[in-house]
Amino acid sequence: MCLNGYRPKLRKPARFVTITVSMTTLDDIVSLCKRRGFIYPGSEIYGGITGFWDYGPMGVELKRNLKNLWWKHMVQMRSDVVGMDAAIIMNPSVWEASGHTSSFSDPLVECKICNKRFRADKKEEQEAHEKEHKEKTTWTEPKNFNLLTEVYLGVTEPKTKAYLRGEITQGVFVNFQNVVDSTRVKIPFGIAQIGKAFRNEITPGNFTFRSREFEQMEMEYFIKPDSGEGDTWFEYWKKERITWYQQLGIKKEHLRFRDHQDDERAHYAKKATDIEYRAPFGWSEFEGIHHRGDWDLGRHKLSYRNPVTGEVFTPWVIETSGGVDRAILFLLLEAYTKEEKRIVLRLHPFLAPTTVAVFPLVANKQELVRKAREVYEKLKPDYQTAWDDRGNIGKRYLSQDESGTPFCVTIDFTTLEDGTVTIRYRDTALQERFPIDKLAEIINVHIKEDFI
Ligand code: ATP
Repeated sequence: MCLNGYRPKLRKPARFVTITVSMTTLDDIVSLCKRRGFIYPGSEIYGGITGFWDYGPMGVELKRNLKNLWWKHMVQMRSDVVGMDAAIIMNPSVWEASGHTSSFSDPLVECKICNKRFRADKKEEQEAHEKEHKEKTTWTEPKNFNLLTEVYLGVTEPKTKAYLRGEITQGVFVNFQNVVDSTRVKIPFGIAQIGKAFRNEITPGNFTFRSREFEQMEMEYFIKPDSGEGDTWFEYWKKERITWYQQLGIKKEHLRFRDHQDDERAHYAKKATDIEYRAPFGWSEFEGIHHRGDWDLGRHKLSYRNPVTGEVFTPWVIETSGGVDRAILFLLLEAYTKEEKRIVLRLHPFLAPTTVAVFPLVANKQELVRKAREVYEKLKPDYQTAWDDRGNIGKRYLSQDESGTPFCVTIDFTTLEDGTVTIRYRDTALQERFPIDKLAEIINVHIKEDFI
């Protein structure tokens, strides 16, 4: 592509050639998130609250970008999936029917020395705790601990007990008939949703990995009740979802599927597999593909009538159930690169909280600042654009590298003479000069080149 004589040099993203001086730890990410405004501990000035996190200015943009990309891929670009947004609190009968009040639980054991509680199915957490005691620890027998979070509604006593949803899925199922009646969907079709879920986790931890409030991005795909169809769509969605994460920059070797064993499958699942990431704390799930069969629609006594044949049946469901917060955590781990002289967050440009940062070379020259402001205002409608005129230019680059900004544009004295600016690329730290009116084209070419 030739832009009036200016040919942007397209390079492979430098993540393939970087010198990484050490492995990324969870502490690296926690500290970067605090330092650069991605994620803060919830209610921090009051001592925090276990299992809750607040997303800061950078974090909220990263999260929005991820959710928008998911929505584009799962809804906008498909003709067989529609979206919806259900209420967080539902009639408690929903949770009775879905089996969550009786079966949405984890096995809990208590240390007989200090009464701390752990999940009986997470042996590594128990073993780590045993090392904290000098004497031999013994444990209570496992008992089931329900994860639903109770809330109390109404103005008269006794108040009505309801639940914050433990998974966003049920909001889709209870609206199945509404969606069929009010749109033109025909089986096979999907309903997608993004929203908050709440679980009273026994051991929140590993930063945002196991929180008590988190966001899910899920799609329920309704199919004919037929085992051949079930297997085909289960395999189809497995491939779709893992490929999507690879396109966002997660290396193939850092991802794997793990099939659930018979004794660990959720109460609703005929078949289930997790997409796992190789995190510093071990291979960990961040999306599940579940064959839910007719469990949910059956429990809610809902069915489907084929509009052509008149046949009535209870559809089966293949679900893709991803965690927004876990995906964010793993994308940060994947992107974080320690080089000899800098830390770079090599986020995919479509995910980066800021796409382009604009700097006047110095902050005390009015003509430079005015020109830089013009460039900033010009880019702002189309890109997440940041302004920085603090300190020296080198420090500004390093700060943008840590936030994952793929492009920095510097306005200097030459700009005032010939209308060209320096564009500096995050991944290579290389700089090139281009006319201001070509900036958008250059950025677009690079972003597209980087999108696999
Ligand atoms: P785990 O076994 O780790 O408790 P799960 O199998 O119960 O997870 P699902 O019910 O399949 O999780 O939920 C779908 C997705 O929602 C998970 O893959 C994860 O990304 C996200 N998720 C579930 N629980 C949490 C949590 N406590 N904190 C953050 N994300 C969560």
